[in-house]
Amino acid sequence: MEKQGNIRIASENMMPIIKKWLYSDKDIFVREIVANAQDAITKHKKLVDLGETAAEENYRVTVTTDQKAGTLTVEDNGIGMTEEEVEKYITQIAFSGAADFVDKYEKAGGDGIIGHFGLGFYSAYMVSDNIEIFTKSYRDDAPAVHWASDGNSTYTIGDCEKDTRGTKIVMHIAPEEKEFLKAERIRELLHKYCSFMPYEIYLNPTGKDDKPVNTTHPLYLKQPKDCTEEEYKQFYRETFSDFNDPLFWIHLNMEYPFRLKGILYFPKVKKQVELERGKVKLYCNQVYIADNIKEVIPEFLMLLNGVIDCPDIPLNVSRSFLQNDKQVQKIAKHITKKVADKLTELYKNDKERYENCWSDLATFVKFGCLKDEEFYKRVEDIIIYKDLSGEYRPVSSFYGEEVSEEDAKNGKEPQAIYYVSDENKQAQYIKMFKDAGLDAIYCDTYIDPHFLSFLEYKNPTRVRFLRIDADVAGALKEEGAEDAELKAIFDKVLEGKHVTVKTEKLKDPGVPAVINVSEFARRLSEMHTFYGMGESPADMTLVVNMANGAVEALKSASEEEQSRAAKQIYYLALMNYRPLAPEELSEFVATNAMLIENYLKK
Ligand code: ADP
Repeated sequence: MEKQGNIRIASENMMPIIKKWLYSDKDIFVREIVANAQDAITKHKKLVDLGETAAEENYRVTVTTDQKAGTLTVEDNGIGMTEEEVEKYITQIAFSGAADFVDKYEKAGGDGIIGHFGLGFYSAYMVSDNIEIFTKSYRDDAPAVHWASDGNSTYTIGDCEKDTRGTKIVMHIAPEEKEFLKAERIRELLHKYCSFMPYEIYLNPTGKDDKPVNTTHPLYLKQPKDCTEEEYKQFYRETFSDFNDPLFWIHLNMEYPFRLKGILYFPKVKKQVELERGKVKLYCNQVYIADNIKEVIPEFLMLLNGVIDCPDIPLNVSRSFLQNDKQVQKIAKHITKKVADKLTELYKNDKERYENCWSDLATFVKFGCLKDEEFYKRVEDIIIYKDLSGEYRPVSSFYGEEVSEEDAKNGKEPQAIYYVSDENKQAQYIKMFKDAGLDAIYCDTYIDPHFLSFLEYKNPTRVRFLRIDADVAGALKEEGAEDAELKAIFDKVLEGKHVTVKTEKLKDPGVPAVINVSEFARRLSEMHTFYGMGESPADMTLVVNMANGAVEALKSASEEEQSRAAKQIYYLALMNYRPLAPEELSEFVATNAMLIENYLKK
């Protein structure tokens, strides 16, 4: 005999809330219903372990789609429910849970609740017109129970035929939600939400050669010492559908003071210039929660791929609460520390591999430093740059002694480190540096300009960075007086061009002149461009080399020859700094042709 009842609590308030809460993630009901089935099995297994009931060899969850009947069914052979329990857990508890939920949701300002909230079962009403439960408790004397409700205010409950222990949830899918009757759609959702659940899940099993859709013992749960390299790679491929092998990985495994397990993978960077966003999947006891929850996983780590299972995160709270939760902050810190430790270990124990990986790692590490002070402190001495000989060196090994306040007052500046930002464009300067036995570092990730400023900011008394064409390094020139006559020749030619002329005696006599743009002026102008404040080319300095033969010869030439040759020398220097503008180029070419003609006719 079926009984009828009224569902408690003003239920007309509940559905809009459920819908609002989960709307963007309707498909989450799959997780809720399957997770309940898994829990029911876990409960049964506990009773078996306690010796309170007979063992079960074949725990499983079966998911069936039936297009004709319009139903999606999830069946388990877990603990089952008696009629009393259905009343208590489904009819009453869930609804009081709803009241609780409404209350907390409103308090939290409705900024999204991450976990579930005792409303799991009812989330299936987002896609169902009607839901039936067929359940039989593990208690031998309990009859099977049938419960049905359209999710509004009434339900029916009564006995039914069911011989096997466990619960079957039959969801009558609403006409507008037909996608949830498609096996492929359900497979996709099981894959997303249930991949690592602890008991086997079968989708539309045929009785032969069926394979579970989930991995009941995911690799991350194992002890690191029991995992092989191939297993790590395979787990990566399967979980992230990336067929490139990861560079390396970090297996997190801790029990105290909080439980945390997982594997973080460093992927190969596909394009140097852009950071690809990774995916860090968060699980709670093998149940998928969400990707890239920034409150738990430090933002910069989201460039990695990984899975993190953390049963201790309070998931039934709002995100703003998570942000201020001490436990969650500790977890995030711990993960950051582990990543830094792993990098340091690699650097110490396998420098070659570290260096080979560096081009893939560099952007990640630098970005991490910019974002996270703790991380920077841990890795500051393993940030490496190539020097002019092509060897990697920690950037901190280039720093100078601290400049005392006293010395700074007297004009002493922190150690200058020259850097190359474009190997081809700055080839002339690189050659001069090499010839003079000076060193510089190669900076080629797009984050470097920003990162070097950051390092200066962190080490203000020990280092400043100058692009290799920012000035003429002391060691490249001899101290000497200026040549006013020479300067006057160039000043005249370059009038109105915002070019300051300087004369120096460079050690390399082969170079007639070089262009310098002061580091400060150049950064300022780059900043203008970056913030869209328009182009504001920084003023240049033309350093004329008194030691060069052509420059020397200028002085005894006629006035006309002087101005023509000085212009050519200027263009030669300019070409090493930037491409010539069209009108500059045509003038340069025309003069050059004439010079060749004169030279050949002589
Ligand atoms: P929660 O799972 O968060 O407790 P639910 O609304 O999903 O909330 O479920 C309420 C209760 O109903 C569960 O705690 C459990 O006692 C019972 N229940 C739900 N599904 C099953 C099932 N498949 N087998 C046995 N009991 C179940």
